[in-house]
Amino acid sequence: EPRKKRGYKKSVVDFTKVDPDSLPTVILVGRPNVGKSALFNRFIQRREALVYNTPDDHVTRDIREGIAKLGDLRFRVLDSAGLEMAASTGSILDRTAEMTGNVLRRSQFAIFLIDVRDGLHPMDLEVGKWLRKHASGIRIVLVMNKSESLDDHTGCLVSAAGEAQILGYGDPIAISAETGLGMVDLYEALLPLLEEYMLRSINDKASLGCSISEVEESKLPLQLAIVGRPNVGKSTLLNTLLQEDRVLVGPEVGLTRDSVRAQFQYEGRTVYLVDTAGWLQRTKQEKGPASLSVMQSRQSLMRAHVIALVLDAEEITNARSSMNHAEVVIARRAVEEGRSLIVIVNKMDLLRGKQKLYEKVIKAVPEEIQTVIPQVTGIPVVFVSALEGKGRTTVMRQVVNAYEKWCLRLSTARLNRWLRKVMSRHSWKDQASQPKIKYFTQVKARPPTFVAFTSGKVQLPDTDIRFLTKSLKDDFDMGGIPIRIIQRSVP
Ligand code: GDP
Ligand code: GDP
Repeated sequence: EPRKKRGYKKSVVDFTKVDPDSLPTVILVGRPNVGKSALFNRFIQRREALVYNTPDDHVTRDIREGIAKLGDLRFRVLDSAGLEMAASTGSILDRTAEMTGNVLRRSQFAIFLIDVRDGLHPMDLEVGKWLRKHASGIRIVLVMNKSESLDDHTGCLVSAAGEAQILGYGDPIAISAETGLGMVDLYEALLPLLEEYMLRSINDKASLGCSISEVEESKLPLQLAIVGRPNVGKSTLLNTLLQEDRVLVGPEVGLTRDSVRAQFQYEGRTVYLVDTAGWLQRTKQEKGPASLSVMQSRQSLMRAHVIALVLDAEEITNARSSMNHAEVVIARRAVEEGRSLIVIVNKMDLLRGKQKLYEKVIKAVPEEIQTVIPQVTGIPVVFVSALEGKGRTTVMRQVVNAYEKWCLRLSTARLNRWLRKVMSRHSWKDQASQPKIKYFTQVKARPPTFVAFTSGKVQLPDTDIRFLTKSLKDDFDMGGIPIRIIQRSVP
């Protein structure tokens, strides 16, 4: 079957922002002529390679070093080809043994190349043996180069791969340094290894490029979007928050059609208000400028950090469910986009004196939200009367709380202590085949995003991911926050 063309996934670490000195180092090893230099050249593309000499007693070795680019991965790459060239006497063992100097000690990973056209060569076995002896701390990825030269319909590649198992480095990755074949496979093999290295080696997340802009993130201006159907009281609520009449309030549907941006201070924090009145006011007649405003409001909605969905208390008492279809869609969408969601039940003044209805609303809304968005537990619900101008503190306290949780960062040390406890608490489905979580870390906030590095090729079952998600939420009080867990398996 022809190989499907696949693209590169996305790394959780932004390698492009990592200081070059902190990048992991990958050395290319293998007997002469397997294509180390060709692969090196492909990795560094047109960038500059540093060639330096390591004078030894008898030989001068040229080692090329450069910054490799593979998809969004970056790493330092060392080409050991010069080593063998210079030391042309002695057995391969002697010669490669000479590499044990600085070069090998500086590498954390090795790409071990073999030439698929030659089958397994006795020298490959020697290199393999030698690596096991001298490079014990180094993670090795085995690749079969020149794979473009074999017709992979005939099963030649498969049998070559089978043969290469003898080396004891697992399944080789079929590549062609010359044509670029298999580079996505190589990327996928290196990705979890290099990510794990980066996340482990740099404890201070601030030095990871991916989070530079997120360090003081909870102090950045909060973007709040107020959404809901017409007439639920969004504009009225907006005015309560702004504490001045800036938006025209009226009963007519669609009056506040355009997104209104406003800004106010709350407890020393700047809050940008994005009024997305257009969001649920789309009707079939609305074309042209109106649909433009709908699109804009949708965009601004997804730019918002916290999304406040406003419901009408009186309507809830008249309807069978607290939320209609449009409201359910918007709430789900907010969560899927990783926004922090809060629900505001407005017009509670209309239920004054109607104790039964009042209690029904207070009970029904949180329950129903839980049912329609089961993946996020504990979405905050507040009950207010915007008309009476009373909701400001109640609403803003929840908004700020939701925002701060959304920006939360947990240290790796704390997470791994937590993980050990949690693992003992959970009855994992099948102890024997259960992938082991080796390392757990937060790579991103806004929303909080975690990576679980597991051993072996098996994926964690969904039930386990759900268990971890729930435990994280319970133990770190992240209710209502759409947290994400990404799994990476490392061999
Ligand atoms: P090194 O000694 O391991 O550094 O190997 P080189 O990179 O110098 O490559 C040795 C020979 O193999 C050269 O003639 C390359 O053109 C050739 N070569 C390298 N990669 C490939 C490949 O993917 N396919 C084919 N067909 N030839 C390759
Ligand atoms: P929007 O279309 O969602 O922006 O809703 P508006 O803010 O324009 O309000 C629609 C109508 O509901 C207006 O007549 C408001 O006076 C009224 N309203 C808004 N909030 C409340 C409230 O808390 N209680 C009551 N009783 N009416 C409200």
